[in-house]
Amino acid sequence: MLFSEVANTLEILEKTPSKIQQAATLAMLFRKTPKECIDKVVYFLQGILWPDWKGLPELGLGEKGIQKAIALATGVSELEVEKLYKALGDYGKVVEKLKLSKPRKTMGLLSFMKGAQVQQRKLTIDEVYNTFVKIAMAQGEGSRDTKIKLLAGLLMEAEPREAKYIVRFAEGRLRLGVGDATIMDALAVTFKTTRDVVERAYNIHPDLGYIAKLLAEKGEAALKEMKPQPGIPIRPMLAERASDPREILEKTGTPALAEFKYDGERAQIHKRGDEIIIFSRRLENITSQYPDVVELAKKRIRAREAIVEGEIVAIDPNTGDFRPFQELMHRKRKKDIYEAMKEYPVVVRLFDCLYVDGNDLTVKPLPERREWLQKIIDECFEFKLAEGIVTKDPRELENFFLKAIESGCEGLVVKALHKDSIYQAGVRGWLWVKYKRDYKSEMTDAVDLVVVGAFYGRGKRAGSYGALLVAAYDPDTDTFKTVCKVGSGFTDEDLAELPKKLEPYRIPYKHPKVDSEIQADVWFEPALVVEVIGAELTLSPIHTCCKGWVKPGVGISIRFPRFIRWRPDKSPREATTTKEIYEMYMRQLKKIETKKARGEEA
Ligand code: ATP
Repeated sequence: MLFSEVANTLEILEKTPSKIQQAATLAMLFRKTPKECIDKVVYFLQGILWPDWKGLPELGLGEKGIQKAIALATGVSELEVEKLYKALGDYGKVVEKLKLSKPRKTMGLLSFMKGAQVQQRKLTIDEVYNTFVKIAMAQGEGSRDTKIKLLAGLLMEAEPREAKYIVRFAEGRLRLGVGDATIMDALAVTFKTTRDVVERAYNIHPDLGYIAKLLAEKGEAALKEMKPQPGIPIRPMLAERASDPREILEKTGTPALAEFKYDGERAQIHKRGDEIIIFSRRLENITSQYPDVVELAKKRIRAREAIVEGEIVAIDPNTGDFRPFQELMHRKRKKDIYEAMKEYPVVVRLFDCLYVDGNDLTVKPLPERREWLQKIIDECFEFKLAEGIVTKDPRELENFFLKAIESGCEGLVVKALHKDSIYQAGVRGWLWVKYKRDYKSEMTDAVDLVVVGAFYGRGKRAGSYGALLVAAYDPDTDTFKTVCKVGSGFTDEDLAELPKKLEPYRIPYKHPKVDSEIQADVWFEPALVVEVIGAELTLSPIHTCCKGWVKPGVGISIRFPRFIRWRPDKSPREATTTKEIYEMYMRQLKKIETKKARGEEA
């Protein structure tokens, strides 16, 4: 097929703002396109050589490379190309103009271009596409010159209009305004199927070139029979957002599954025999960033082939507590992945199962997918199912939301469980509703809290304490009310001395002056005071500080608390009081109100 057919269509599309018209124009092109090369035409329209998730090289020409190729192909200086670009603002127009003003036969071949053949013949789509593949594949020493020569060769053979689109493709900017949706509409019309069928196929095999070819060669039935395939990413199902528990449950129907919304990176984990591939939310292959997750998946997924989804979350290596998303970003910035793994360990919390050994589960309701997940995952602390509850009750949902926030999560994802709760690949719908806070605040002042209990450590902290249970003082009742568990911020020396330091105060029961709903591993007499700061104050269904003051049955806690130092100068009854914590919380609320009034984002 001649490339001019494609270029002419692109010219029309550029001048057609209506999506319907665009689809009709594309359908005309598809009808003329031979089956063997329809994938290439589709990729060209998308402005890509292949889907990103294949992890194949990019063109790598850069603006300078394109400039040079235009200069070579048209026999003008790079300076002239640059000057023209300043005037026209588009390298596509630059090359078109230069080619129109200099007919092909007058173009002198530079000695640099030795070997490139210039013939008076028409380009085909195959030649254009295959040359771009060669450009992308040219790697290593001397590859820059090779890439430029290849592009220049193509431009020399092209008609002015063709050259315009070749250059725009090279730049990664076709400027057509034709999205995947329009291409899918056109494919549906051309091959007598529906947009839904094409879209469903695309969602489970996000490669529109492949879909087009399959449709052209084998027809609609082939698309309908398509199943997820390990190794090929599935476009992720997404959630709508709401902020009222009652409304959320109305949307999902009841009972619904409420799960922690972990604050990490979404991961679609594919197992194909011994091979593990991890795709990101944007379908990039991120396997090499997570050798630890690869090992876990190999060991913990009990199926020959499977596709599961979950969130990779950074944790505090000492306490096992979740860390904010930024920690994961720190990990990504480190050059040495094995160093990064040690410094920023992660866990995986799984929430869906899309395929197991030949079974397409995307068409099954969520309870069935969850059952499969339970069945095939051999759970351990690092690799297990997302924490969730099944509920009908808005109040229970609200409390679970507070628990999620306090645990370092972003909120909840509430999911429908009815018979139509299939996995809607690529769709943002009301089968999943995310419940996040609208606004966040910051804790600016540290507080002094009393150590009343402790929890045994794990990992590096085995044999010592992993976290301390700390409390504020309530002078009205002369009791100590728990605020949070502090596990972060300790130096190795702090940690090493913890058991010895706390031993004198150890008691075999909860102290009568301590008001705690949490069962600590070890209890202490209220004696030692620590200075603590956190990300923010937050409502808590499990801590007793200020319980019922802001909302019935709910206390105030600190999110992501960090140890700063011991306060030997303070006695336990001089610690921060519950009233002070309440006032800090109310000040925080006020700040949030002001932010809201100013329309600032969370
Ligand atoms: P956001 O920026 O709010 O995470 P998003 O557009 O990336 O939004 P949404 O589908 O709107 O994605 O929100 C759900 C996201 O939350 C998922 O993409 C996933 O990364 C994350 N997540 C964390 N825990 C869960 C869970 N239990 N179930 C589903 N998604 C979860």
